Amino acid sequence: MTLTVSDIQVRAAEGESLELSARVSAPGARRESFRPWFRYTGVETLTPWGDAFLALFLIPCMYSRENLHIDAPVSKRLLAAVPRIQQTIRNWYKGFSEIEVSAAEAHEREFAIDPPGTACFFSGGVDSWYTLLKHRQTVTHLLLIRGFDITREESDLWETTRGILDKAADALGMRAVTVTTNAKKYIDLGKKACPWGRRYPGRFWRVAHGSGFASTALGLQGTIERLHFPSSVHPSLFYPFGSHPDLDPLWSTENLDIVHAADDPNRTGKIRSQLADSPVALENLRVCLENRPGKLNCCRCEKCGRTMVSLRLAGVLDKAPTFPEPLDLRRLRRLYVPPDIHYAFYVEMLREAREAGDEELADAIESALGYRFTLDHALGLARQTIGSAMLSILPARLAPFVKRFAGPISRDVIAESTHLVKKRQ
Ligand SMILES: [Zn+2]
Repeated sequence: MTLTVSDIQVRAAEGESLELSARVSAPGARRESFRPWFRYTGVETLTPWGDAFLALFLIPCMYSRENLHIDAPVSKRLLAAVPRIQQTIRNWYKGFSEIEVSAAEAHEREFAIDPPGTACFFSGGVDSWYTLLKHRQTVTHLLLIRGFDITREESDLWETTRGILDKAADALGMRAVTVTTNAKKYIDLGKKACPWGRRYPGRFWRVAHGSGFASTALGLQGTIERLHFPSSVHPSLFYPFGSHPDLDPLWSTENLDIVHAADDPNRTGKIRSQLADSPVALENLRVCLENRPGKLNCCRCEKCGRTMVSLRLAGVLDKAPTFPEPLDLRRLRRLYVPPDIHYAFYVEMLREAREAGDEELADAIESALGYRFTLDHALGLARQTIGSAMLSILPARLAPFVKRFAGPISRDVIAESTHLVKKRQ
């Protein structure tokens, strides 16, 4: 059985945007065909090639055991990388099969881009700001996406993040590009709304988000010739993840080099080396996943807490006005850190706190890691256990209340890391 991508079109769309779309026919789909699209603002040209759609559907097809045919020209370099992409995903995750991938034409046509553009994904977080500042001499375009981590329904969050994008672009003399897309609902096999494919028993987006992001940039061939993926995991900390230095460059074509730095420092190092000297970054830093109305960062969730620890270690927490509350060490002691990549993050921060002589902070991190017993940590652990039991029996609409009670990291992270990911090779 084969999923087929055809009728790729570029047209002018709403709000002076340019739209790249395709018709997709999938075996066993609830609809005869569906049409994923990407709408770009801030660019003058898109190319009706199949590269973006190959990147979008390869990994979902591997899990659904469907071959993939792109009825359009596809980059020869990208097609040649498909076996290695498949091997990498199959080495990391359980349940993915090798499939056949074909295209109407394998081409090596090259654009002459004048002047050559370099893009960087931008969401306003530490990884984005670090990558952008590190490459500020060459980056020309900042790329913000609506429809992936920011959903199309989250208008307030979109406007806020869009405002940060514009400030960053203005301050650094770069061009802001936005991409709005409906593609996630057609590739997120973990969601019931996906109209085709085999259901994935976890967060499929963790596997497929990197290729999703790459697909948005592949639509920009002819405008940019290089794309920097912000690094999220240091390669020394092996962690299967949809965006990874071993995977992201494989989505490159003759016209677009995709780069994911393999030597970036950890979160504290990123803040110390780039953000600490950039008022525009510190004044507009946004990492929070809670999206509380009127707040760029809630200062309470795990990601806010972890970032505030790094800002404190880098000596600039008081220069980051988007974190208006003080770092709550009692909350940190109560934190339950699951035995996955988060654990490695906190072990590293513990070492840094000890080296900096910040004993108060080091003691709180030790408690969160469970190195020694504290009543705060025991209570936090009990709340997590009760909370995760409640999550499994209560209606989904009550989940936000349970999560508020249970604390910032729920136990499904552990389930995913033990059941779906293969052991280190
Ligand atoms: Zn937060």
